[in-house]
Amino acid sequence: MGDFRIDITATGGHGCDRTAQPGDDLKSCGGASCPDCLARAFVASLKGLGMLTGQPNQKATLTHWPNQAGQVVDDLVEGKRKHRSFTAKEEPEEFLAQFFTFAHLTTPQMRDASRPFAELAMLILARIPRNPERTAALRKLLEAKDCAVRAMVAKAAP
Ligand SMILES: [Zn+2]
Repeated sequence: MGDFRIDITATGGHGCDRTAQPGDDLKSCGGASCPDCLARAFVASLKGLGMLTGQPNQKATLTHWPNQAGQVVDDLVEGKRKHRSFTAKEEPEEFLAQFFTFAHLTTPQMRDASRPFAELAMLILARIPRNPERTAALRKLLEAKDCAVRAMVAKAAP
């Protein structure tokens, strides 16, 4: 007797209980081709056979949309939604944030010039409430960053 692990990644079917929020108990529809219910039934079989008793080294999860930003995770041992939900509305990322990346810049000097602006942008995103004034702050910081990077590549002033 020893541990075993089953990894299955499959495609298709229509799951159920799309309204459960993190921490909610999962409700089954019992559909014969419902992947959620098939997975829950299999886990219930293992529980019934004493192979899945909730020991710390044991787990059974169902991940919907694995490796995607919106992935939803169900804990099949506890029968609860664990992470995210199908109805979660996530705040879209700040549009201007993409322009503070610096890894793509071609020289270390340009990256060094850009980095502190990116760090300040991250602080602003973390600490300042999202509103038009924050966007203006980021816009002006972005302009300053672009000037600093151009200063690093500019020809000597006449
Ligand atoms: Zn179902």
